[in-house]
Amino acid sequence: MNDIRDCRVTSRRPTRPVKVGSVIVGGHAPVSVQSMTNTRTADVEGTLDQVRRLAQAGCEIVRVSVPDETALEGFRVLRENVALPLVADIHFDHRLAVGSLMAGADAVRINPGNIGSEAKVREVIAAAADRGASVRIGVNAGSLERDLLKKYRHPCPQALVESCLRSVDLVEGMGFNDLKLSVKASDPLETVEAYRLLSDLVDYPLHLGVTEAGTPLTGSVRTSAALALLLADGIGDTIRVSLSGDPVPEVYAGLELLRSMGLRAGPGVVACPTCARAEVDVAELAEEVEKRIRVIRAPLKIAVMGCPVNGPGEARESDAGIAGGKGSAILFVRGKVKGKMTVDKALDALMQEIEKLEEEWGNRHGDGKG
Ligand code: SF4
Repeated sequence: MNDIRDCRVTSRRPTRPVKVGSVIVGGHAPVSVQSMTNTRTADVEGTLDQVRRLAQAGCEIVRVSVPDETALEGFRVLRENVALPLVADIHFDHRLAVGSLMAGADAVRINPGNIGSEAKVREVIAAAADRGASVRIGVNAGSLERDLLKKYRHPCPQALVESCLRSVDLVEGMGFNDLKLSVKASDPLETVEAYRLLSDLVDYPLHLGVTEAGTPLTGSVRTSAALALLLADGIGDTIRVSLSGDPVPEVYAGLELLRSMGLRAGPGVVACPTCARAEVDVAELAEEVEKRIRVIRAPLKIAVMGCPVNGPGEARESDAGIAGGKGSAILFVRGKVKGKMTVDKALDALMQEIEKLEEEWGNRHGDGKG
C-alpha cells in the first residue's frame, strides 16, 4: 500500500525565474497565488477596493482586464495606487498592451494568436523588454487559432500546447524570454494533460488554472482536482483558482490548496461534519475561526468539534481547539484542557491561545514581531 506521504510534493520541476514586479515566479520561488478583478477597470474606486481586499486576503499578483481606452485610463490610476504586482489582461488590441506597459504594468497577459500580425506582437514585446516587464502567453481552449481547430477538429491538450509553442517560438525569435505560460481548458483532465505535455517541452514557469471552472464550490473542486495532480508532479509556479463571483474566495481557495499540498505553511482548521451528538453549531464556529485566523502565519492545526465523544480526542491532537459540551465548550491547547466555558467565551479564548502560539512561532522564526 502506498504511504500517504508519497503524495507530498518533494521536488518541483526546474523552471527559469521570471519577475512579476516584486514577485518571482518560477526558479526556487514558492508557488504564488493570484487572482483577477471583475469590476469595470474604468471604475477606479470599485477596482481599487477589490484589489485591496484581494491583497488583504493574501493575493500576491493581481490581473486586471484592459479591454478598451477607458479601462486603460483606469489602469493608469490603479497603478499609481497599488503596490501589488499588476498584470494587464489584453485580448485583440496590441495598443492596449503597449499602453498598459507604459502605465507600469508588471506583466501583460496576451494570446499572440489573437493579437494579430507579427509586427503587433513585436511592438508589445519591445514595450515589455523596454520596461523590464514579463509576458504571459495565455492560451485558452476557447480562443485557439482556426488552423489548429481544423487540424485537431476540436480544442484538445495537443492543440493548446501547439498553439502555445507557436507563440513561444515567435516571441523567442524576438529575443525575449521573460515568459510565463498557461494552457487552460475548462475540463480538469484536459488541463492536466496539456500542462504535463507542455512541462516536458519547456522550462518557462507555468501559470496553472482551469478556465471557466464555475461557481465557488464546483470551481474549487474542479480546479483542486486538476491542480493537485499537477502540483504533485512538481508542475506549476503560480496558480489561479477561477471562480464566478467575488474574486476574494479565489485567494482563500488557492492558499488552502497550496497548504493542503504541503507547498505553503499556515494554519488549518479541522472541523467535524457534525451528527446527532453535536452540542454546538460547528459550521458557524469553524467559519468564524477560519475568518479570524486569516492573519495568522504559523502552521497550526486548529480543531472545532461538535461534541465530547470524538471532539476532545481530535482537539488534543491539535495545537488548539474547542469541543462542544452541554451548553458549553471545552478549550484544549496542545493536548491539555484549558477550561470549560460558554461558546462565545471559548471562541475568544481560542483566539487568544492561537495568538500566543503565533507569537511563539514568530519568536522561533526570528521575525522580530513577537
Ligand atoms: S465530533 Fe461529535 S458531533 Fe462531531 S461528528 Fe464526531 S460524534 Fe458527531
